[in-house]
Amino acid sequence: MQSVIYMDNNATTQVAEEVIEEMMPYLRDKYGNPSSMHTFGGQVGKQIAQARQRVAALLGCEPDEILFTSCGTESDNTAIKGTLSSYPNRRKVVTTRVEHPAVLTTCRDLERHGYSVSEVGVDGQGRLDIDELGFRLDDNTAMVSVMWANNETGTVFPVEQIAELAKARGIVFHTDGVQAVGKIPINLKDSSIDLLSVSGHKLHAPKGVGVLYVRRGTRMGIFMHGGHQESGRRGGTENVPSIIAMGKACELAMRDRADENKRIRALRDTLEKGILSSCPDCFVNGDAENRLPNTSNISFEFIEGESILMLLDQFGVCASSGSACTSGSLEPSHVLRAMGVPFTAAHGSIRFSLSRYTTQEEIEFVIEKLPPIVNRLRELSPFVKT
Ligand code: PLP
Repeated sequence: MQSVIYMDNNATTQVAEEVIEEMMPYLRDKYGNPSSMHTFGGQVGKQIAQARQRVAALLGCEPDEILFTSCGTESDNTAIKGTLSSYPNRRKVVTTRVEHPAVLTTCRDLERHGYSVSEVGVDGQGRLDIDELGFRLDDNTAMVSVMWANNETGTVFPVEQIAELAKARGIVFHTDGVQAVGKIPINLKDSSIDLLSVSGHKLHAPKGVGVLYVRRGTRMGIFMHGGHQESGRRGGTENVPSIIAMGKACELAMRDRADENKRIRALRDTLEKGILSSCPDCFVNGDAENRLPNTSNISFEFIEGESILMLLDQFGVCASSGSACTSGSLEPSHVLRAMGVPFTAAHGSIRFSLSRYTTQEEIEFVIEKLPPIVNRLRELSPFVKT
């Protein structure tokens, strides 16, 4: 396999070696069902309890507030649909225009079922107007769902402040923390957040495992009926190896987050400086101050993001673009559109997202290879005035 320079960690991350080691015995030898009466299965149950504790430690909450799911999308769906089913007399959800599709399409489906959904916009830097959000809350509002950090730009929202607003009105607050967990400090005990979604594969655990934090006492209807697993809140035999992996990944994040983020932020800033200083007509998207340390979303005017990606790919560099071309529509990203990024720049946006495995050499390689790619594409672009 070609060696890659992987800078697409907001899409998914490499599973950490320590995580693989921790989960392997549960694929090979320790295959008992944690619900079984015998010791062989019961031992597995104890390891799940330890994983739950490790996740709770990272989030600053109690283990019994942790619900294991299959992914971030399931956590988001459960949070939203579970809450609404518990408040049948309230028919409104307040969210933002820049949420991940796991929240946005869930909300659009709710509209088809008679709910009212209010999507708050953002400014040119991707920041929310908190006062505007406050005005949208009323007695018909069952819940507010606002992401902690944006997957495309890395912009971090003041969710603790928004949770306070919701709490003051007796409204449930959910945050999609899929991009935030492991990257910024989180202490749920000291917050008014009721529900938080996490995804394993964004923090060096495998795909197919997620978490929903449910604050004690939060009313939430059951979404997956079945056995008594997860205290009867989500039926289905546990995905044991992945849950164990999730616990280990959280432990690593807790141990390394502060140091790693300092290093990653410095690499990200070097990358941005290097690109901006050698490529004209490009700019960084997102909130300059409140941004994930690993994320850089850069718009290159007059050229297509996909073309840049394809040429980077020839050097083994993995990044992603803001356009939704996979849908066949060539529509620029809904996040950049909500920010009012001009059409010619929104189409040429590239997201680099770094991780604990990103090196200085890789950053230097991209800084060297990218400018000639941009120049070459601009020479071919019908939008560039000569
Ligand atoms: N929410 C955000 C902000 C994301 O970035 C993603 C994945 O990219 C998801 C939810 C969905 O997570 P999963 O892939 O685990 O379903």
